[in-house]
Amino acid sequence: MILADSHCHLDFDELAPDFDTVMARARAVGIRRFVTIGVRVRQHARVLAKAEAHDDVFCTVGTHPHYADEETDISADDLIAHAHHPKVVGIGEVGLDTFLANAPWDAQMRNLRAHIVAARETRLPLVIHSVRQDEAMAQVLREESASGAFPIVMHCFSGGPALARTCLDLGAYLSFSGMLTFPERDYLREIARDLPADRILVETDAPSLAPVPYLDQRNEPAYLTHVVACLARLRGTSAETIAEQTTRNFFAAFEKIPPLEQLS
Ligand SMILES: [Zn+2]
Ligand SMILES: [Zn+2]
Repeated sequence: MILADSHCHLDFDELAPDFDTVMARARAVGIRRFVTIGVRVRQHARVLAKAEAHDDVFCTVGTHPHYADEETDISADDLIAHAHHPKVVGIGEVGLDTFLANAPWDAQMRNLRAHIVAARETRLPLVIHSVRQDEAMAQVLREESASGAFPIVMHCFSGGPALARTCLDLGAYLSFSGMLTFPERDYLREIARDLPADRILVETDAPSLAPVPYLDQRNEPAYLTHVVACLARLRGTSAETIAEQTTRNFFAAFEKIPPLEQLS
């Protein structure tokens, strides 16, 4: 099986103590590409260092809504400047989250719009974090897309059918994490079951959101196979088929990442 983890946080301290064995386990289950995601532009160097140290790791640059108020001075031009690096393949994560994140709404919205400008300019996918803000998110995405299209990856999709529909209308990819396996998430499994196959990505969001059977433990990229198995069950197909399709989608979504045959 060849897999790609479209969203993880390889620079987070939780993965540091046994980082090399974490990566070895991930590669052993077939993960050939990792996108390690930025959460603070001011700490971009640590994210980029992971990408520069490993041929199979790429990264993004952005401000997570949780840190929005720390980085309201970051401009679209700052993001674009970072995006020139060959290992930077996306803008984000950025978004709206009033459940887990408590940065002021205005700061979250301001940063979201600045990141959209950068995504539109660079043609790199905007990696969006959206929690319990379906209507506001759908409205911003529709409004901004109308003034100029930009590629979208909805990371750890947790919204309802209406947001899923808006995303599909805008050509976005919907990425599923271990949350898909959480017992109370039946509505999410229904959405994942019915989506067009060419719009689905998989991710771990490691070290957070470990899937069943590792609930509440530290997550790591190797557990991606549990997300793939869950999708396979829901969609009545094999894990191999899900792996093949989501890996193909991954390279379509993250166009800047060279195809597998061009790298070791
Ligand atoms: Zn997130
Ligand atoms: Zn994340």
